Amino acid sequence: MPDFKLRFAVAVCRLSRLLLRLLRRGGTTLPGVLALKICPEIISKLSAGLEIIAVSGTNGKTTVAHILENAIKSDGGGTVVCNRSGANLATGIAAELCCNVGIFSDSRPKYAVIEVDELAARKVIAMLQPRVIVLTNLFRDQLDRYAEVQSAAGYLREGIATVPEAVLCLNADDSLTVGLADHLPNRRIYYGFSAEASQSGCPKPGEEGTRCPRCGAQLLYSCSSYGHLGHWSCPECRYSRPAADISVERFFETEAGSDAVFKIFGKEYSAHISAPGDYNVYNAAAAVAGALAAGNDIKSAVGALAGFGHGFGRMERFDVGAGVLMILIKNPVGCDRAFDYILKSERAFNLIIILNDLDSDGRDISWIWDAGFEHLCEAGERLNRVTVSGMRSKELMTRLEYAGIPDGKISEEKSIHGMMKELESSELPTYILPTYTAMMKFRQRLAKKTRRRGFWEG
Ligand SMILES: [Zn+2]
Repeated sequence: MPDFKLRFAVAVCRLSRLLLRLLRRGGTTLPGVLALKICPEIISKLSAGLEIIAVSGTNGKTTVAHILENAIKSDGGGTVVCNRSGANLATGIAAELCCNVGIFSDSRPKYAVIEVDELAARKVIAMLQPRVIVLTNLFRDQLDRYAEVQSAAGYLREGIATVPEAVLCLNADDSLTVGLADHLPNRRIYYGFSAEASQSGCPKPGEEGTRCPRCGAQLLYSCSSYGHLGHWSCPECRYSRPAADISVERFFETEAGSDAVFKIFGKEYSAHISAPGDYNVYNAAAAVAGALAAGNDIKSAVGALAGFGHGFGRMERFDVGAGVLMILIKNPVGCDRAFDYILKSERAFNLIIILNDLDSDGRDISWIWDAGFEHLCEAGERLNRVTVSGMRSKELMTRLEYAGIPDGKISEEKSIHGMMKELESSELPTYILPTYTAMMKFRQRLAKKTRRRGFWEG
C-alpha cells in the first residue's frame, strides 16, 4: 500500500520549495519544517535503501562532501543526493531528500553524501543509518551552540552508537575525534599527516583537545600540524594516536592547491589537490578515506581530488576587479587558517572582514579574541587596506586595532553596494572573510556580477 503521509509530505515540501524559489527566497528551512511536521519519520523513510555517507565535524564538512560526490560519480555511481548548500540540520536534510529521491518514479539514486551538523548528529545519524561516517575534526566552534567541544563529541558519539555497522573514517591526528569513538564496535579507517608532513613542535599550552580522552592527563606531542592536531600520546595510560591507514606523506603548497603524496594501505599515490591550504590536505585525506570505505576504487578517489569545485564561499574565486577570493570564517581555528593562507602570498592585497551575529553565524562573537588577528601585522606593507563590515563591525574594528593594525589602514563600510564598488575599482586582489550569513548575501551579489548560479540552483 502506498504511504500516503509520506507522499503528501514530499509533495508539500517540493511545492513549497518551488514557490519560494519563484519568489527568489533561497535558503529557507520552511519546506523541510513542513515535511517533518507532516511525516516525522521522513528522513528514515526516504533514506532507506540508499547507500549513505555522512560527513560531520567542525571544519571541512562541505569540502569533504564535495570531493566524495565527485569520487562516487567518477567511479560510475550515478546521481548522488547531496545537501550541498550547507543545509545540514534535520530540516535541510529532509528537504534535500524530498526533492531528490524519486518516490513517484522507479528511478532512485543509489548514493547520498549528507553533511550533518554536529549538534544534529545525535538524531540525524540514527535516522539516516549511514554505511560510512567521515569525521573531519573537532574544534571550538560557536560557543553559544556547543558550550564546549566535549558536548559536540558527545552528540556524535550518541549518534554513532546507533549504527554499529557503519565504517568510521577518523582523523588520527585529532585526539578528540579518535577519543569519541573509543570502545565503539565500529570498523574504522584512520587518516592523518606523517611526521614529515606535520611541522615539528607541539600545540600551544592549554590548547583545547590536548588532554587524554581516556584519563585526562596532558598529552605529549612529537609533532603537530595545527591547533591540537598532531602525533599525540598519553604519558599516563599509554593511549596514543593510531597509525594512519591513509597517510599524507608529504605535500607542497602552491597558489592553486597542493601536490601531495599519500600512502594508502602501504602503497604510495601522488595526487593534486585543487584547493590551497594545509587544512584542505586533511579534507582530501578524509574524503579518500570515505570514498574507500564506501567501496570506491583508490584511483577514482585520488583522481577526484584534482577536480573538485569549492563549497560556496569556501576558497571561492570571483573575477571582479583585480580578483576576489572568499574564505568563510566561523571560528578561531578556521580564521587562523585563512590568515595563514593569505600571509603566504607575496603580493599586496586588500582585506574585507564581515562579522554578523545571527543564529547561523553564532550569536557569541567572543571567538574573535581567540583568533590570531595579530598575525595580519606580519604582512607589513603588503596589507594595503582592511575594510570591516557587518552587524558587529564595531567590535571587529576594536579587535583589529588591538591586534596592532595601523588605524589609517582600517575603515568601515556598511553596505554591500559600497564594498562592491570598492572591489570593482581595486587594483589589488581582495580577500573577503565573511561569517556565514554575510557570505550568503555577499556571494549572491558577486555571483550575479560574474553570472554564477545561485546556491539553491546547485
Ligand atoms: Zn591517558
